[in-house]
Amino acid sequence: MKKLQAPRGTNDILPDEQKYWRLFEKTSTSLAETFGYSRIDTPVIEDAKLFVRVVGESTDIVEKETYTFKDRGGDFITLRPEGTAPICRAYIQNGMHNLPQPVRLYYYCPVFRYDRPQAGRYREHHQFGVEVLGDSNSTLDAEVIYLAWKLLNDLGISNLIPLVNSVGDKKCRPNYISELKDYFHSSVVDSCPNCPRRLEENPLRLLDCKEKSCLEVISSAPNSIEYLCGECLEHWESLLIDLKNIGVPYVIDNRLVRGLDYYIRTVFEIVPQDSGSQSTISGGGRYDGLIAQLGGPPTPGIGFGMGIERVLLELKKLNHEIDDTKTTKILIAYTDESSKAVGTTVRSQLHRSKITSVLAPSGRSLKSQLRYASSIKASHAVIIGERELENVTVTIRDLKGSEQKEIPQGNLLSYFGKG
Ligand SMILES: [Zn+2]
Ligand SMILES: [Zn+2]
Repeated sequence: MKKLQAPRGTNDILPDEQKYWRLFEKTSTSLAETFGYSRIDTPVIEDAKLFVRVVGESTDIVEKETYTFKDRGGDFITLRPEGTAPICRAYIQNGMHNLPQPVRLYYYCPVFRYDRPQAGRYREHHQFGVEVLGDSNSTLDAEVIYLAWKLLNDLGISNLIPLVNSVGDKKCRPNYISELKDYFHSSVVDSCPNCPRRLEENPLRLLDCKEKSCLEVISSAPNSIEYLCGECLEHWESLLIDLKNIGVPYVIDNRLVRGLDYYIRTVFEIVPQDSGSQSTISGGGRYDGLIAQLGGPPTPGIGFGMGIERVLLELKKLNHEIDDTKTTKILIAYTDESSKAVGTTVRSQLHRSKITSVLAPSGRSLKSQLRYASSIKASHAVIIGERELENVTVTIRDLKGSEQKEIPQGNLLSYFGKG
């Protein structure tokens, strides 16, 4: 029989890995809540039309990068490929525009892309992100950029810099795009597998090209800031002041456009200081037209998303000692059936006091039970043998210090600092 495997591009998160995930979850959640963000969870599956409305039919993302299928009732369903659109859908559906604005939300969820798997980019990966809906002020752009940067810093990843840019809005971006088209018509690199097509479909994405042959052409392309209308320019300039006020370093990168059409004005990415934009750790931007595009009331929004697997790769590179000390873990060892019965009672007592404890595996010698204790990294063994049964005591062995002590059964909880 062929061995069963997890689908390509998916991973098991094994117990040894969990400490990284718990650290991320704890750090991100507590930071977001400190800033007044509330958690939101949306379904893993959504109506496929949601993402078609977001990115348009012709875009790569819905065409070939999502898991979209017809369910048994004949409806087209898409596995959530990103966090923002479902939250906008939920905002509209639940009338969240009636809440005091802005609404600050954060999420932590698996997302699915039918993509070629590569390091830190999987077909199923996990994303953390925040969205601020209902206010277009640039102080919120600065807050969101700061949060992404601060979260990574709090995790100990400190060699990072936010790259920021403005791509204008519906009013001024068309001028910029037509300038870009003119520029690239004469200089597009024909040998690039993507750029000639992008020139027709979405010239902004040319700036995103990572092909070596294209980089030089891209470096002298027109600069979006020079084409901003009055309002966008004002928003951009106040963003730079807000970033300064909030105390986050940044670099202006006029090549930065992000892949999605719905971004307007602010776009940003967080990258390691010593490498190019190839290794974006987090990114986001403003999407003031998106909620209206999805059928809701005109509502501004800004957010970032962060691939957790990608962050954990960085975290592991740092080799930081992660505090994984669980609460005292106790192995209960016994010598026969009647001491095992007492052991079971003792275990219930410990569990009621939230002390992690397990009963030794059956049918093993005491020596083998104690070996098992060290293999599961127990801190103590509670031993119940004939003598302990007779005296109504237990023997506690400190497995780190190898000291041993017999105490009355009734004193067990106070020995471990409970009761
Ligand atoms: Zn190219
Ligand atoms: Zn504008």
